[in-house]
Amino acid sequence: MKTQAQLIAKFGDPYKDRLGFERKWMKLWIVPADIREAIPAMPAKIYLNKLIQVPLERTLRELIELGLHVEIVSCDGVFNIRTKRGSSGISLHSWGIAIDLNAALNPFRGKVTWSAEFLQVWRDIGWICGADWSAASKDGMHFQWENF
Ligand SMILES: [Zn+2]
Repeated sequence: MKTQAQLIAKFGDPYKDRLGFERKWMKLWIVPADIREAIPAMPAKIYLNKLIQVPLERTLRELIELGLHVEIVSCDGVFNIRTKRGSSGISLHSWGIAIDLNAALNPFRGKVTWSAEFLQVWRDIGWICGADWSAASKDGMHFQWENF
């Protein structure tokens, strides 16, 4: 996983220059209609780091192809400048490169309800799944992209 210093080197510090960061990296992704039709939990628009648009769309389409998309019942946020849960480090949501799904069913340090197949699709495309973290930091709702 990337260190905070590596993330700041790549994207800048959103706490120090939020607008500069947003202008350079963030975009409003209009979620394609066929994806929204298959996954009603997906919002019409997602404000995200432009680096994750392609892998996120690819992942959602792969899940739909495999019939695993039905596991997604809520989309609980991408961009949010804040610290990590249970830590003082900067959350990857601060750079718009993480997405939370089914937060109520997969609480921080709690149970993970995703199927093994669902999680494997995310891993295979290159996401880091919070479901894979050790008990103290397990975050089943959380998927982050740091392939850069
Ligand atoms: Zn998260």
